[in-house]
Amino acid sequence: LMSGRLAIYPDEDARIPIAHVEPGECIGEISIIDDEAVSASVQALEPSHLLVTNAAHLWELMAEEPAVALNLMHILADRMRRNSVAMLESYRQQAQLNSIATMDAVTGLHNRRWLNDMFLRQIDRCARAGLPSSLAIADIDHFKSVNELYGHQAGDRVLAQVARVMLKALRPSDLVARYGGEEFALLLPETSLEAAVAALERLRLAIGQSQASIAQRTTVRVSVSIGIVQWREGWSLEALIQAAERALYAAQQAGRELMFPAGTVR
Ligand code: GH3
Ligand code: MG
Ligand code: MG
Repeated sequence: LMSGRLAIYPDEDARIPIAHVEPGECIGEISIIDDEAVSASVQALEPSHLLVTNAAHLWELMAEEPAVALNLMHILADRMRRNSVAMLESYRQQAQLNSIATMDAVTGLHNRRWLNDMFLRQIDRCARAGLPSSLAIADIDHFKSVNELYGHQAGDRVLAQVARVMLKALRPSDLVARYGGEEFALLLPETSLEAAVAALERLRLAIGQSQASIAQRTTVRVSVSIGIVQWREGWSLEALIQAAERALYAAQQAGRELMFPAGTVR
């Protein structure tokens, strides 16, 4: 660029430029070197003068005059550095967004990050008030075969349907989160083990009776196994979840579709 000012846009429809070009700088050198299509769109912000060259001429010039090649190398190095700085910044932003995200896109439920905070608060609140609270882990039975038979998208629909039924079957004060792939964590504040067993048996039946529509005229029905425990004095959230997972495992071993309250709590 001899004079004037240019703006570089990521594509033709973009409205925010990613960089500006000032007199003395050059553009398009990468597509000359790698002989590929241009990777961005350039607009003149004011009447500008350009010294235009082509690939054949530039290669010839570099062969004859090493200073030109060296100069181009400086320009490229500078451009690469600027690109990596921008990329690092974008990685940082992404990491930041991930760390504040608490929603699960597939089911619309909250995720594990949210659970760690919110479940603990409710358990603490109940404990201070001398009230029980119960936690359950529900796992869809043979979920892998849904993916295998109908595809991953159908699997996603089933997950979303199960989440919907759960929210409908529980009380507004109960908390539901997607715990892992096909596992859900449920916290029932102010609820004893016996009451939780009754509520979750209703939930289990509701899931078993509901159908997820995965395509026109195709519906899928799944069942869940559930492990339930009541919080005990001194238990951390991790200990509570582990106990519920053990109960879930026992339910799955016993043939699935079953709830298995951890025997020791009753
Ligand atoms: P079990 O009855 O013993 O629980 O068997 P299972 O097949 O339900 O459990 P397993 O842990 O063997 O497989 C879970 C499957 O869930 C495997 C994984 O591909 C699938 N999965 C995990 N997350 C997602 C998701 O977001 N969408 C879909 N479609 N599938 C998922
Ligand atoms: Mg599982
Ligand atoms: Mg499963």
